Amino acid sequence: MAGLLLKNVAKLYPNGGVGVKDFSLEIGDGEFTVLVGPAGSGKSTLLRMIGGLEDISLGDIYIGGVRVNDLEPRERNVAMIFRNYMLYPQMTVYENLAFGLKLTGCGKNEMHQRVTETAELLEIGHLLETPSEQVTGIDRYKVVVGRALARRPQVLLMDDPMIRLDGQLRREMRQGLADLHHRLGVTVVYVTEDASEAMLLGTRLAVIRDGVLEQTGTPEEIIRKPQNRFVAEYFSCPPMNVLAVEVEEKDGKAVLKAAENRGVFSEENSRILIDGGYAGKEIIIAIRPEDIHVEAECVKKWGDNLIHACAEACEADAQGAYMTFQIGDESLRAKVPEEGKIHPGDQVTLAVDPSKVYIFDKDTQKAIG
Ligand code: ADP
Ligand code: MG
Repeated sequence: MAGLLLKNVAKLYPNGGVGVKDFSLEIGDGEFTVLVGPAGSGKSTLLRMIGGLEDISLGDIYIGGVRVNDLEPRERNVAMIFRNYMLYPQMTVYENLAFGLKLTGCGKNEMHQRVTETAELLEIGHLLETPSEQVTGIDRYKVVVGRALARRPQVLLMDDPMIRLDGQLRREMRQGLADLHHRLGVTVVYVTEDASEAMLLGTRLAVIRDGVLEQTGTPEEIIRKPQNRFVAEYFSCPPMNVLAVEVEEKDGKAVLKAAENRGVFSEENSRILIDGGYAGKEIIIAIRPEDIHVEAECVKKWGDNLIHACAEACEADAQGAYMTFQIGDESLRAKVPEEGKIHPGDQVTLAVDPSKVYIFDKDTQKAIG
């Protein structure tokens, strides 16, 4: 096992396309890092460069302290699992697990030991003599993972490996993968577009957009302290409310103005805005629907941060009921205690939890403070 270091890595494709730009990231030995971002953001490009399937245009990649830029894929001792993984259908599970080992010239005894160890680890020992085409569901997936792990790679690279699995299998596999990582301690770089999958799996996330590293951190850090508007919105489900508001200075404090409403929000935000010279300017604020409340006790508690709005439409999903409210030209979504209490057309007072308001510079879209 080994850590991984990417130093100012860039990929410029021959057609002029930019895969990644000046990307630097350190991944500790045994960490489970999820590289997460939208389609086309450069995730696969990075994995292929780490694995040696793609030349590195600029910068350096180190695995276990060794610069690997000029090493062949098989010399890097990494294993990759792709979206379109396949088993060798004519072979048994045993032969599938042994395949990669054979290629590396591993002796027969050692190969046997590695295959049986790997099968035990994944709890597929009873399937070793089964033709792989007869293996289904979660077991099939375990064989794919086992084949990658049989060589005892230093790093396991996974490129959106669960995209083809249905919901139930995906849940089982996520859990299985987390357990396996826990037991093996292998360094994993896992790629997904799915923010919630990233949060569930990763001990650390690296958020990428347009080939640029936007933020790294634990899932909690990403949620609590998004460094820019993109990260805040990407990791918010249901989507955040994003509004442009004007900052006014009153008695040395920042007051945020949206239509006829005024809010003072937190002392901390107020100080940051005044010190940063935002008085008289517009900023962007983002608030999660669950941090806007209609309950009377919240209206009492956060009396400085009330919004008067007109209820519009209600919708419900597995996580609860949400209502859309109109304030000025903007609309806001808030989580409401239950469906049917508030009706379209009702005038409602909403209270905002002041500690859950994110503030961003309007021009740079970066977090203020
Ligand atoms: P992701 O895996 O995050 O969806 P990719 O790494 O596949 O993103 O792609 C990142 C960017 O590089 C995209 O703009 C894509 O069009 C471009 N790209 C990827 N592969 C090639 C290639 N072989 N030639 C030219 N451009 C490419
Ligand atoms: Mg990809």
